[in-house]
Amino acid sequence: MTTTPDLPSAQAAASSATGSPSIIDSFVARNRDYAAGYRDGGMDARPVQHVAVVACMDARLDVHAALGLQLGDCHVIRNAGGVVTDDTIRSLTVSQRALGTRSIALIHHTGCGLLSLTEDFRRELEDEVGIRPSWALESFTDLEQDVRQSMARVRTSPFLLHRDDIRGFVFDVTTGLLREIQP
Ligand SMILES: [Zn+2]
Repeated sequence: MTTTPDLPSAQAAASSATGSPSIIDSFVARNRDYAAGYRDGGMDARPVQHVAVVACMDARLDVHAALGLQLGDCHVIRNAGGVVTDDTIRSLTVSQRALGTRSIALIHHTGCGLLSLTEDFRRELEDEVGIRPSWALESFTDLEQDVRQSMARVRTSPFLLHRDDIRGFVFDVTTGLLREIQP
């Protein structure tokens, strides 16, 4: 019979292995508090509002708060830039075909890190590690144009069932306001 090490011991071991505590160590402790007050609401995996949101991973953008959404309401698909990549389409396809979403909101934001990067990033990365990334950086210089590009990629995807309710926005990190971008 094996025993499961208790979390504080595992946490201490993990911390000492790296020499300094990680923020992730605190996740374990905070999760215990979270779980203590957690109640299974019996929610379905299918989003209540039948909507998927594609957004940048930016730390300043709280998608649920900004859109007035509650837990269980939507799918949130995030990546650097909130760009529509093949993997974004993969998630949207599962979202629509297996989990019943019908609408898609795309959100870019002011002050995005991708605005200051160029394809030099990939070239310098290749020089450093000796391997050319298989992915495109998807950096951009024009926020609005990139939102339009993202909307176009979604609208032209053959895999999606619902392409009539797709809207794109720029979130202003200084005011918290969304600005809709016309396709
Ligand atoms: Zn961003």
